[in-house]
Amino acid sequence: MKLILLGAPGAGKGTVAKLLTAIDGSVQISTGDILRGAVQAGTDLGKEAEGYMNRGDLVPDELIMGIMEKRLQEPDCEKGFLLDGFPRTIPQAEALQELLKKLDIDLDMVVNIDVPRDVIFDRLCTRRTCENPECQAIYNVKSNPPKKEGICDKCGSPVIQRADETEKAIGHRLDVYNEKTAPLVGFYEKEGKFHNITGISSDIVVAAIQKELRL
Ligand code: ADP
Ligand code: ZN
Repeated sequence: MKLILLGAPGAGKGTVAKLLTAIDGSVQISTGDILRGAVQAGTDLGKEAEGYMNRGDLVPDELIMGIMEKRLQEPDCEKGFLLDGFPRTIPQAEALQELLKKLDIDLDMVVNIDVPRDVIFDRLCTRRTCENPECQAIYNVKSNPPKKEGICDKCGSPVIQRADETEKAIGHRLDVYNEKTAPLVGFYEKEGKFHNITGISSDIVVAAIQKELRL
């Protein structure tokens, strides 16, 4: 399947994407994971992106489009892909349309995962992430803690609170979302293939997508 997953930070895009990859072998492409990997590896991209990310601001569109142009041409995308955290601005959405046209790729669906803001705020404050860039497993201190405190179940690396998951940075990320990313709903509604799914549970969101795509 070839999907765009829209939704606020903490709406569950990553969790839904991971569940969907298990269905048909499509790959999850998370620009956030790619950027955090670059920051940890200390590459030029990482150095440029780090300041924006820690403040909770968006990384410039040109950098993101550079990443995505390469990523979408890698062979593992042929089976399908789930775009998680991209596009995040109208210019990115417009550039993506050009890119898909150039690569002769048709999207199946654009899904907006709609979750109330208070649920999201609470989730982000209690979210913890595996610091291993190859893993980046997500935990939650309340609802899904690692078996051993502070240690990733999957790879044994430390599980940490992200630098952009302080209350201040989270509030800012949600404001940036409302200003820059929320308008994508209107953009894709006009384009067709758009579905809004209200879902606090990722399983329900996945079931709704499967039903829509008859998978
Ligand atoms: P979340 O969805 O939880 O906010 P992500 O992991 O998707 O987190 O993104 C973390 C940060 O990486 C963002 O706050 C932003 O700085 C940067 N980022 C990720 N994707 C994009 C994008 N498509 N455009 C601009 N910045 C991005
Ligand atoms: Zn891990």
